[in-house]
Amino acid sequence: MHAMAAMDLHFVMMPLMAQGHVLPMVDLARLIAGQGARVTVVLTPVNAARNRTVLDNVARAGLAVDVAEIPFPGAAVGLPEGFESLDMVTDISLGIRFYQAWDLLAEPLEAYLRSLPSRPDCLVADACGSWTVGVTRRLGVPRLILPVTSAVYLLATHNLVTHGTYDRAADDFEPFEVPDFPVRVVVNRAASLGLPLMEKNQREMIEAVATASGVFINTCTDLEGAFIERYAEAISCKVWAVGPLCFLNTDAAAGTMAGRENRAAMDAEHIASWLDARPPASVLYVNFGSMARLFPPQVAELAAGLESSRRPFIWVVKETETAGIDAEYEARVKDRGLIICGWAPQMTILSHPSVGAFLTHCGWNSVVEAVSHGLPLLTWPHFHDQFLIEALVVDVLGVGVRVGVEVPTTHIGLVKPGQLLEVQAGRDPVERAVAEVMDEGLAGAARRARAKELGDKVRATAEDGSRDTNVKNMIGHVMELVCKSEEKKMDDAN
Ligand code: UDP
Repeated sequence: MHAMAAMDLHFVMMPLMAQGHVLPMVDLARLIAGQGARVTVVLTPVNAARNRTVLDNVARAGLAVDVAEIPFPGAAVGLPEGFESLDMVTDISLGIRFYQAWDLLAEPLEAYLRSLPSRPDCLVADACGSWTVGVTRRLGVPRLILPVTSAVYLLATHNLVTHGTYDRAADDFEPFEVPDFPVRVVVNRAASLGLPLMEKNQREMIEAVATASGVFINTCTDLEGAFIERYAEAISCKVWAVGPLCFLNTDAAAGTMAGRENRAAMDAEHIASWLDARPPASVLYVNFGSMARLFPPQVAELAAGLESSRRPFIWVVKETETAGIDAEYEARVKDRGLIICGWAPQMTILSHPSVGAFLTHCGWNSVVEAVSHGLPLLTWPHFHDQFLIEALVVDVLGVGVRVGVEVPTTHIGLVKPGQLLEVQAGRDPVERAVAEVMDEGLAGAARRARAKELGDKVRATAEDGSRDTNVKNMIGHVMELVCKSEEKKMDDAN
C-alpha cells in the first residue's frame, strides 16, 4: 500500500441548513481543501442557490470543493415549498417542523454516501445533527464535528451536564455557577440549555460532540485559550482551533468580503459611501444575525433609544420587525441613521473605519467577525449559546458592554405564566448602553484599546499559519483512523 497523502482523502461536510452554519462550514471546507484534500459540501437546493456566490469564489480559488445537493424533506412534515433554512423560522411550530425535517435528512444523506464510487474518508458534521452519529457508524466512517459555537459554551454545557447541575436545578431560572470552569460564570438552564422542548436535542448534541473523533472550533488561543484546552481535556478528544474562519473569501485581502455576502438588501457600495461620510469610529452597527427577531414593542424601544442616543447608526431589521418602527422614524433620523431591511453585507460594514461598535445578539460568527476587526461590542443575547458568549465578551475579554437582557426570547412567556415579557430593554437603558460603548472618556478608550489589541492578535492568527498547522494535524489524525480501519478490515478478513 502506498503512503497516504492528503490528496487521497475525501471529506464530506454536512452543515445545518442556516446561514450561520453553512458559511463557517464552507470556510472550513476551504481550509481543508487548501491542504490538498477533496471536499464535498452537502446542501439542499435552496441553500446551494443562496450560497452560489460564496461557492463560486471557492471554485475560482482553484480549490477542490464540490457541492452535492440533496432534497430537503420539508413537505413530509408540512413545511411550505422552499422552506429549507432555520433562519426562515418565525415561530416555534415552524422551528419544530424544521428540526423534524432536518432529522429526516439521515436517510438521503446515507443513500448519497453509499452511492459514491468509494466511501468518503470522513464526515464533518454540524453538532446539531446528532443523527449523523448513526449514519457514520453504519458506514464505518469517522465523524468530526464543527459545532459553530464557542469553546466557552461547549465547555460550560459539557460540565453542566456531566456534573448533574442541570438535573439538580429546580426550574429553568434557578441560577447556578458553571462547575470546574476557568472563570466564575453564573447561568441558568434557560440561558444555556434552551427551550424545555428542545432540551432532548440539546443534550443529544452535547453528547454527539463529545463522542466524535475530533472537534473543530471556530476560535483561537487569544480568544479562548483556557477554554479550548479544558474542553479538549474534558471530552478526551482531539480539538482543533481553526478560527477565525471569517477571513477566507478571496477578496479578504482588500478588506471587503463581497463573496461572503448573501442576497444583500442594500448595495454594499451605497453603505460604504454612507460610512465614508461619517467620522472614524463614530457609527454603531446593529444586527441580530440571521435568526433572532425582536417583538414590535421591543423594536419601538430600541428605535427610540437609538434616536435619543444622537449617534450615527446602521440598523439591520427583519421584515417582521418593521411593524415596530413608526412611519416618520426614517425621516426623523435620516441624517444619521441607515436602516437596512433584510440581509446586510456584515463583513464590509465591520471592516469600515467609521464603525465604532457593534450591537450584537452574540451569535458566535458575529462575535468572531467583530472581534477580528478590533471592535467593542454592545451585547444583547437572545437564546442558546448567546448568554455564555456574552459572559466571554464582557467579563473575560473585557471588550463588551451589556444592554442588560436577562431572559432568553425562548422563555419570555414563561417567566410569569400568561404574561409576555416583550420589552426587556427600554429606550433609556438602550440609550445609556449606547453612550457607554461609544464613550469617548477613559473607560471607553481603555475598552477600545483592548478590543483593538485583541483584534490585532486574532487577525495575526489568520496569517501566521497556526490554523493551517491545526488542519494538517487533523488530516494526519484522519489518515491514522483510515489506516486503522483498513487494518481491522484485513484482520477480520483473515
Ligand atoms: N450575516 C450577514 N448579514 C446579515 C446577518 C448575518 O452577513 O444581515 C452573517 C454574519 O456575518 C455571520 C452569520 O451571518 O457570519 C450569522 O451568524 P451568527 O453566528 O452571528 O448568528 P446566527 O445567525 O447563527 O444567529
